[in-house]
Amino acid sequence: MSTHSPNRTLLLGQTLSFCGNPFEQDPATTIRHESHGAVLIENGHVAWLGPASEVGDRKIDVPVIDHGEALIMAGFVDCHTHFPQTDIIASYGEELLTWLETYTFPQEMRFDNPAFARDSADFFLDQCLCNGTTTASVFGTVHPQSVDALFIAASKRNLRMAAGKTCMDRNAPQGLIDTAQTAYDQSKSLIETWHQNGRNIYAITPRFAPTSTPEQLEALGALWGEYPTALMQTHLSENLAEIAWVRELFPGHRDYFDVYESFGLTGAGSVFGHAIHLEPREATALAGSGSAIAHCPTSNAFIGSGHFNIDTARTAGIHTGLATDIGAGSSFSMFATMKAAYEAAHHHQVSLHPAQAFWLATLGGAKALRLNDVIGNLAVGYEADLIVVDLASTRLIGRRCANAEDFIDILFAQMILADDRAIKQTWSAGECVYDRHLTAG
Ligand SMILES: [Zn+2]
Repeated sequence: MSTHSPNRTLLLGQTLSFCGNPFEQDPATTIRHESHGAVLIENGHVAWLGPASEVGDRKIDVPVIDHGEALIMAGFVDCHTHFPQTDIIASYGEELLTWLETYTFPQEMRFDNPAFARDSADFFLDQCLCNGTTTASVFGTVHPQSVDALFIAASKRNLRMAAGKTCMDRNAPQGLIDTAQTAYDQSKSLIETWHQNGRNIYAITPRFAPTSTPEQLEALGALWGEYPTALMQTHLSENLAEIAWVRELFPGHRDYFDVYESFGLTGAGSVFGHAIHLEPREATALAGSGSAIAHCPTSNAFIGSGHFNIDTARTAGIHTGLATDIGAGSSFSMFATMKAAYEAAHHHQVSLHPAQAFWLATLGGAKALRLNDVIGNLAVGYEADLIVVDLASTRLIGRRCANAEDFIDILFAQMILADDRAIKQTWSAGECVYDRHLTAG
């Protein structure tokens, strides 16, 4: 769906950009806020950005959309999620390993049906857009057609999406099992079809060490060596029973992360979901290799995996992004995810600053996906993947923000209280792809 498609558009409203990393300097100094700002979009990119009073001749012959008091910022980046699990969100009563058996595997079986996969991919991406998420790194199922479905749906909306076929050659039901060879062949064929085709990016995707044989991990490591611009996504140290199982299955390895290291599955462009229970050596190795963590706080709380310590990642210097991990995650909203990240940090006596939370939800995720020069910030030259946030989307939020101390306090109130109702518009590559007032349901 496209509601507006000129080559040039001028958006007016409040604007939020980052000019520094809030984990490396005083967080408040990393935010650039214009209370009356303007964003000139040209051919899908941000061409100019500044105070509305300085627009000058740039507005001549350009359609202007005035968003008033609403906030224009970069679209959210969700750096770890599973589109096939959309329909099992909010399923009762299990922890990781039994969650997979009870809910995930039976649901993922359904994706051998291409029509079902296409319908799910469309629904999933519409949910992303109405929540202001413009980029996600997405797990498919073992079926290549699930990945085709996701990329077809993403291409239709001109979104910058990463995705990959989830590879498993053991410890999963027969209908979801591939082999080392078919995982390699099918992933390679999907890379050839989709990687860097339009805005799409392929992510080589072993589910996690327990469902891959050493032969499969080796094959996927070799494949990544052939296509180093692809991403690699998997899971790491989410749950204590899982970690004990990895130790049994891979007895010769120093720790969980070492399994991935030894098969060439670490380094820049690799994104590890969760990483809650890291050994000190693993944290050092993650940082040293340039690998990234996808912090999935609603999922960790929902299936009782633990509370990620953001300070461990910051101290070690590990790239970190924020992620929903649908369907173990309990919300598509990055506001809810930021709130959960704030709560997880509090379990470790850390108060996550709003600038840090919004950075994780945009540039942090973009950096994990090696896209931080392209998306994740409202900045000149960046792709115009933007959202327009209504800062008074409920009566409660409006009342709370009327009493806010400053802009940082307004951001904090949003991350604790806002949801999809706050997303007024979502723009992808300079086109409006979602408008709250034009979309029912
Ligand atoms: Zn996951």
